[in-house]
Amino acid sequence: MNILNRFVRYYKPYRLLFYTDMLCAVIVSVVDLSFPQILNHLNKNVFTQGREVILHSIGFFGAALLTLYIIRYFCQYFITCWGHIMGARMEADMRRDLFTQFQRLSFSYYDQNNTGELMSRLVNDLFDISELAHHGPENIFISFLKIIGSFVLLMLLNVPMTLILLAVTAIMVIFSIQRNLKMKAVFLDNRVKIAKVNTSLQDSLAGIRVVKSFANEEAEKMKFRKSNQDFLASKASSYKMMGGYFAWNSFFSGLLYIVVIISGGLSIAGGSLTLTELVIYLLYINIFVQPLEVLINFTEQFQKGFAGFKRFEEIMETKPDIIEKPNALPLENVKGEIEFSNVSFRYNLDDDVLQNVSVRIPTGRKVALVGPSGGGKTTLCSLLPRFYDVTEGTITIDGNDIRDVTLDSLRNAIGIVQQDVYMFSGTIKENIAYGKANASDQEIIEAARSANIHEFIMSLGLGYDTFVGERGVRLSGGQKQRLSIARVFLKNPPILILDEATSALDNESERYIQESLSKLSHNRTTIIIAHRLSTIKNADEIIVITDEGVQERGTHRQLVNLDGIYARYYNMQFEGIDTQERQP
Ligand code: ADP
Ligand code: MG
Repeated sequence: MNILNRFVRYYKPYRLLFYTDMLCAVIVSVVDLSFPQILNHLNKNVFTQGREVILHSIGFFGAALLTLYIIRYFCQYFITCWGHIMGARMEADMRRDLFTQFQRLSFSYYDQNNTGELMSRLVNDLFDISELAHHGPENIFISFLKIIGSFVLLMLLNVPMTLILLAVTAIMVIFSIQRNLKMKAVFLDNRVKIAKVNTSLQDSLAGIRVVKSFANEEAEKMKFRKSNQDFLASKASSYKMMGGYFAWNSFFSGLLYIVVIISGGLSIAGGSLTLTELVIYLLYINIFVQPLEVLINFTEQFQKGFAGFKRFEEIMETKPDIIEKPNALPLENVKGEIEFSNVSFRYNLDDDVLQNVSVRIPTGRKVALVGPSGGGKTTLCSLLPRFYDVTEGTITIDGNDIRDVTLDSLRNAIGIVQQDVYMFSGTIKENIAYGKANASDQEIIEAARSANIHEFIMSLGLGYDTFVGERGVRLSGGQKQRLSIARVFLKNPPILILDEATSALDNESERYIQESLSKLSHNRTTIIIAHRLSTIKNADEIIVITDEGVQERGTHRQLVNLDGIYARYYNMQFEGIDTQERQP
């Protein structure tokens, strides 16, 4: 399907609107073209008759013209109002499709693309597209109708004058197109510069807390001032070009009239043209020139709209990396037995992050992953919900390859508590209920109780209806973490991943949260990554992963006795703590 077809498919639901819009466009053009024609008729057949005939006919022609202009009024209203609404509806449809596509795209896509830029596409590009969608066909259609119609009528009035006119217009069009190409470059520069302003603004606002904590307001202001000034300079140069362009354009129109008046004067002198014919001729020139200008000015909008649509289609055509097999079955009655068999994984074309890793976790057991930062622990965990697919090997849950089951059922079977907690703007209740859309108030409260956060929530003015603020800024790290644990309690998955869930917390909060986490992992197959080894001592198996791969595995006691990497970590963390705690 070529790009034009793909564009046209968005018109399909609004066929009726579109055709009506076009019909109105035709009527408007016909009315505009017929005015000088009626004048011509009056001049030839009525005004040359006696006083009686003129008085008798003028009322009729007045009424006829009034009727035409009333019809034109409604058509113009339809074009402006419903034409724009059609464009806006198409824009909304595209935005809906783009949003759906954003939801479908995989983690890897977001690893490679900047969210600020994606957001700007959702707003700017779609606006350009909608303008094109509405004005495009109508402008092109009306303009061509008027240009062709008036040209034919001009030729009928006077051939030599029209040929001279054509020559002058051709020069004007060529000149304008060249100007336009130059302006395009300047407009593009405008866009680049405003994007920089936006990025700078977005960055600074999103990171305003960091800015303030480093007392970097002045530096930020300087950075912003620079991009702001650059944008201003770019705008100024585009206005200079526009000034020249528009001034030349009106000069050219003036030139046209001068040419016509001179050649018309000569024709009148020669007797081949009457004064009234010259006036009618001038009226048609106006109808002829004005759509030419519209078309030339529209090329800019046309290019912008199509460029936007191309970018839109680029995203729409991106295939998500993680897709469901057509015959995928839901994962049901999950017991939670997990097996990684010979799993290798790399993100891009880089080196393997994981190589030949095999882990089996029986139902309800706990496996802990330990190792230096960057070793691949988080990566291993993100393979289980298929955030990324293994490069080699297989992962099964209850014996089912995770690539054979539906994504929803797979992800519903897994709860994840991470170090970074994301809170959506909304109330506390809504944020907990993110784990289960149709949860009852009772269930939400129970989940909050299990996560040790109920008392805190009740201490807030509005309780569960308290707003968390943008990204949860009004909550402490520990409180956010407990809310995220409540989410998972509510979701109640058979499998649990705890990825450094307590690493960002102070000791006090950690102890508190540790308690709810052990409650959460009770009776669930759990993969736990923890910085503090005290929390994983009781795991059924501990696996030490470095960037060299799996280095050690076994129970806490076995690994301590092995006296390798784990033992070294362990001794490091517990130096100074009494021996009873060191040797459980
Ligand atoms: P850990 O959780 O053990 O600290 P990670 O699994 O986060 O380690 O990272 C393992 C390696 O993979 C690191 O070298 C990291 O730079 C790389 N990595 C992590 N996430 C991505 C990603 N989204 N894209 C590319 N490389 C990544
Ligand atoms: Mg990690």
